[in-house]
Order: sequence, then C-alpha cells, then structure tokens
Amino acid sequence: MKPPPLKNDCFAMPPGVDWTPVDVALERLRSGLHAVTEVETLPVADAGGRVLAEPVTALRSNPPKANSAVDGFGFAHASLPPGDIAELPLAEGRAAAGVPFDGTVPEGHALRILTGAQIPPGVDTVVLEEDVTLDSGRIAFRGGLKAGANARAAGEDVEAGQEALPAGRKLQAQDLALISAVGVATVAARQRLRVAVLSTGDEVVAAGGPATDAQIYDANRPMLLEMAHRLGHHPVDLGHVKDDPGLVRAALSRGAAKADVILTSGGASAGDEDHISAVLSATGKLQTWRVAVKPGRPIAMALWDGVPVFGLPGNPVAAFVCTLVFACPALAVLAGADWVEPQGFDLPAAFSKNKKPGRREYLRARIRDGKAEVFKSEGSGRISGVSWAEGLVELGDEARDVAAGDQVRFVPFASFGL
Ligand code: AMP
Ligand code: MG
Repeated sequence: MKPPPLKNDCFAMPPGVDWTPVDVALERLRSGLHAVTEVETLPVADAGGRVLAEPVTALRSNPPKANSAVDGFGFAHASLPPGDIAELPLAEGRAAAGVPFDGTVPEGHALRILTGAQIPPGVDTVVLEEDVTLDSGRIAFRGGLKAGANARAAGEDVEAGQEALPAGRKLQAQDLALISAVGVATVAARQRLRVAVLSTGDEVVAAGGPATDAQIYDANRPMLLEMAHRLGHHPVDLGHVKDDPGLVRAALSRGAAKADVILTSGGASAGDEDHISAVLSATGKLQTWRVAVKPGRPIAMALWDGVPVFGLPGNPVAAFVCTLVFACPALAVLAGADWVEPQGFDLPAAFSKNKKPGRREYLRARIRDGKAEVFKSEGSGRISGVSWAEGLVELGDEARDVAAGDQVRFVPFASFGL
C-alpha cells in the first residue's frame, strides 16, 4: 500500500513570525510530515537498520520455560532442612540445556543442573556449583539462599502475546536478538527512505577534478550522501548543477522521480543567484524558513512533484548542522521512524563564551578529560572544525555567559542517529 501524499502546506509557518525558534521549526516538521515509504515483509536477519511498520508481538515467552541461570544443583527451597548448613542427597540423572530432566525431583533431594537447562518439577532454586561440596552422592552448602535463587522464571523477560517492540522502531542489532528470541521470523518493515542529494552553484566542481582559482570543490555532496547512508537511508546521488533554473528544475524532477526526499545545498537564500529558492518559489509552495539558529541560513522548504525538498545552505558547516538538527529528525519521520529527541548531557565547559539572546547556537565540540571543548574558531567556513568535532554544544535561545567550568549541554553526533 502506498502511503498518502504529504499536504501542500506541510512546511507552512504561522504568519507574522520573523525568526522561528528551533523548537517551533522542529514541531512543524514533526506534525507536518508522515511516513512516505512502503511496507514489505522481511526476514529478521535482513531487517537491521530498517524501521518497523507494525509492532512485533511475541509468539512465545522468553524464556519459554523456567531455566537455570548457573551451573549448580537444583532443589525445592521448602524442602531444605533448617540450620546453617544444608545437606541434600543427589537424585539420579541431570538437567542440561536442551536435554531436560525426565521426571520429578523427589522432595528433600537435589539434582545436577546446568546453565540454560529447564527447571524440572520439584525444583525452584539452584545453588551455584562453586558454593557446594560434593561427597558420595550428597551435597552440602551454606544456608541463606533465597527461594528462587539462580532460576529464571518463564516469561520473565517477555511474555507470549506481549508487544516486544513498537512500530516506528529502527532496528538495532540487539533488537534482532529480541525478535528472534520471541519466535518471530519475519517483520513488517518500511523500505529504506530514498534520499536524493543535489549540489548547486556555478562555482562548484566535482571534487578531485581540475578547478580554476575561482572554483571550489563540491564538499557537501559526499557529506550529505554519507549522512543519509549512516542514518539508515538509501542515498541517491543527483550530482551537481550550475545555477541555471532549467537545469535546477530538471534535476529536481529527476530526484522526485527516483527518491522520497531531496536535499539540495546552495542557492537557498533570496539573492540574485539563489536559483533553488527561485525555482521552488515558482511552484508556489516554497516556504523560506528563517530559523533563529547559528550556524544556519534560511532553509528553503518545498514540495516538488509531491516530494519534500530541503534547500540547505551551501556553506558546508551550516549544511552539516542544519542537516543534523532539522533534516535528521524530518528524514526519520518520512522513513516511518519515531521522532528522535537528540539526547545530550551536561558537562563542564573547557571554554568561555558570551552568547547573545534570540537564537540557539551550536558549537562544534568534543569531550576530552570529561570536559566539553569547542573548536578554536566559530568561522563558518572552517570545515576542519566539523571534522574535528564529535558533537555539538547546544546553547539555548536566551543570552548566556559561559565561563570555564560551567555546565553546558553536549549532544554527541550519534544522538542524531549518525
Ligand atoms: P550559497 O548558499 O549558494 O550562497 O553558498 C554559500 C557558500 O557555500 C558559498 O561560499 C558557496 O561557494 C559554498 N558552497 C555552496 N555549495 C557548496 C558545496 N557543494 N561544497 C562546498 N561549498 C559550497
Ligand atoms: Mg550559490
């Protein structure tokens, strides 16, 4: 089944807002977008990184039956004789993983039991083998063991019929373990979101080729394609076009035909040579988002042939940060995944900074010696700074006077899903 199309006004901002706070922009993305990818059935082993389209319901309990957590000796706790030292005769036979004990352990007896073995009738507690002395068919150990010790109850992890994972979950390696353990072999997953990436600009040329002094290499395309890939999406390379309306239109149409979303970089402001904005506004659906954020520039948001377009700033630092902060969560929604609130934590600053009110700032940062360091320059042209960084220090919309040692919020790049 094909999901419904996005609404024409999905990027519309409330009128009269000049500079949109980051949180308002994020809320707009969260509420205006929805999953656009189709659903398919996949074997669990092929589903890593995919987004669940439906919840996974446990077909069996984990563990299916009570089993032993250790190698040792099992017995009924109520049958222990009183006193400091317990002594029990051993019953004939043993219980091993996959080879259950056939019968009931007689009252007042213990049975050799190995890790993972089903707990047989007549046993509810297991004493660790290291805590036991064994002599001529009898075991002795110190009292004080709690009833049920070292025994895992049936379904203590997940009960059959319970929801093991919700729809919208992006499957991690350990999720595949959980799904497998509860007896589920296939999942309803969304197809990977196809993310097309287009670079624009007369001055931009493909990296590695010949370039005049007036030209710069295309730094954004490999970065954005790799970000899409790392986020679990399917990157689609649309190449680079010059600032020519016809070429831009043709490239967007190519993108809309073979992708679910298009990321462009460059030409997104309102200047004479900002052809992305010009072309998108001619369709009548352009929304220029002036988000109160640094680094950032206006982001041009639009639908092209029904496909959402994020017109990112050309500056690679701004393109990177805007992609992290705005495109990552938006792509997650389009991919059918849960909204991701990037989790950060507070650390002492290894820097000082005076921040003006009225916009949020993201500083290129990393953690060393338990402190948040920031890059030596906030220059927006310093690509080496984003390369150096391992996350962002987030300074809220209000004014802030940070002194060395003050707590600041650090958000690792991994929190954005990278
Ligand atoms: P624009 O957003 O088109 O005004 O571009 C802003 C700055 O980013 C300019 O200095 C551009 O040369 C530069 N720029 C644009 N696209 C790219 C790109 N793909 N790679 C590196 N720099 C770029
Ligand atoms: Mg330009």
